[in-house]
Amino acid sequence: MQLYKSQDLKIYNTLTGNKEVFKPIHEGNIGMYVCGPTVYSNVHLGNVRTFMSFDVIYRYLKHLEFNVRYVRNITDAGHLTDDGDVDNDRFVKQSRLEKLEPMEIVQKYTVDFHKVLDNFNFLPPTIEPTATGHIIEQIELIEKLIEAGVAYESKGSVYFDVLAYNKKGLNYGELSNRNIDELFANTRDLDGQSEKKNPQDFALWKNASPAHIMRWNSPWGAGFPGWHLECTAMSTKYLGETFDIHGGGMDLKFPHHECEVAQGKACNGVSPVNYWMHTNMLTMNGLRMSKSTGNYILPMELVNGENNFFEKAFHPNIVRFCFLQAHYRSVLDISNDAMIASEKGFNRLADAYKLSKNLETSLTSSLDIKSWKKACYDAMNDDFNTPILIAQLFEAVRFINLVNDKKETLTREDIAILNETLYTFINDVLGLNLENTSTSVSSDNNKLEGVVNMLIEMRDEARANKNWGLSDEIRDKLLALGIQLKDGKDGTGFSIN
Ligand code: AMP
Ligand code: ZN
Repeated sequence: MQLYKSQDLKIYNTLTGNKEVFKPIHEGNIGMYVCGPTVYSNVHLGNVRTFMSFDVIYRYLKHLEFNVRYVRNITDAGHLTDDGDVDNDRFVKQSRLEKLEPMEIVQKYTVDFHKVLDNFNFLPPTIEPTATGHIIEQIELIEKLIEAGVAYESKGSVYFDVLAYNKKGLNYGELSNRNIDELFANTRDLDGQSEKKNPQDFALWKNASPAHIMRWNSPWGAGFPGWHLECTAMSTKYLGETFDIHGGGMDLKFPHHECEVAQGKACNGVSPVNYWMHTNMLTMNGLRMSKSTGNYILPMELVNGENNFFEKAFHPNIVRFCFLQAHYRSVLDISNDAMIASEKGFNRLADAYKLSKNLETSLTSSLDIKSWKKACYDAMNDDFNTPILIAQLFEAVRFINLVNDKKETLTREDIAILNETLYTFINDVLGLNLENTSTSVSSDNNKLEGVVNMLIEMRDEARANKNWGLSDEIRDKLLALGIQLKDGKDGTGFSIN
């Protein structure tokens, strides 16, 4: 029997505001779309939290033996800054700053994104489409929307006509619970110069000025697509007009996802998504993590310890464990104390897991392992409740220690169930890499630092003895390995490239 059939998975649906029993459109198959990163700079740790929540959701759905098509796009074009200034396109701005082609910016930060996710043990999506690879599909969508009477051209740009959409009896604002009349009442077009009929109208296509390097030809002249459109184009292409799950951070609910609902409904006459899922924000020391405020840390800075916020380096497993101790719909605050506590917790779990392989078997069990296993599934079936699952894993830690101390007993069969369930949830579902617990990056770094410091001391001794040959040899050989010694008035330091 397939696992998913015996499960009762409930998902919180932003669209209805309820936890609903999950019913896929096609029995046994799931189409899931998650908005990917905008690759004009490095992803920060907050972005990683959102993607990690969906990584665990994907892992669990796969574990339940659903056949999942998981699409996570790369936004590599046409992302305007909030002021809507066409010449302020983030890619164009960044390419000027770094003196690179916009497509070099895209490549550089896509590679970085993948490296980060590899480090944190993410499963790749089954399709990772790019916005620039789907310009034709986006142009076709715009033509359909104009034909449907919900989009209009204005000075080489095309806008979605929110009022016309609502006049069709459709409800712009249904996802984010916004009342369209209030939206209209509360906004005015201050300068009266806008190309739009109404301030709520959003761009489907933007006319590009001659200075704008990222541009494509279209029936409305050279320009580039609006951000909301790319997700509708790619999700429809790979998952169909209506698909099961669409996810992203809750800051994307409005306007991005609201616009996707409107585009999908206007184009195809059906709601594009059955279950909308939104993750909550990562905060650091109580403040939302964001590049614009400076309250952010790059994921690898937490792993290699090179940052001003944390007193030590933390292995990616510890970061993952810390993140998953909060439910995906709750705010999660990370701090030095929270990370230290997570490290302790993870090590306790990993130690108990090792111990569980060598437990003595008995003829009877005094602990109810089958109920414990069911509680693990119940936690994940309840809207992917990872903190409750982790609490159940610690219940197993308690069991293991009791059996190890000969205070409780387990049969061979129960020990096998315990081990298999632990491995499944820790390794396969939560994505914590049990094989990689002993060699933490931080301890590797500490060892390397110790070795280099030892060589610096030997070089100091050689220099004190005027043995310049040996002192130069140490410096040059380290340099050949990418470690540069820097002599200063307070002694010798080093940097690793
Ligand atoms: P972006 O590249 O800005 O589109 O962001 C990629 C994803 O990260 C989106 O789903 C955002 O909602 C999400 N995100 C941005 N900031 C945070 C944060 N502080 N915590 C969690 N998720 C975030
Ligand atoms: Zn999107």
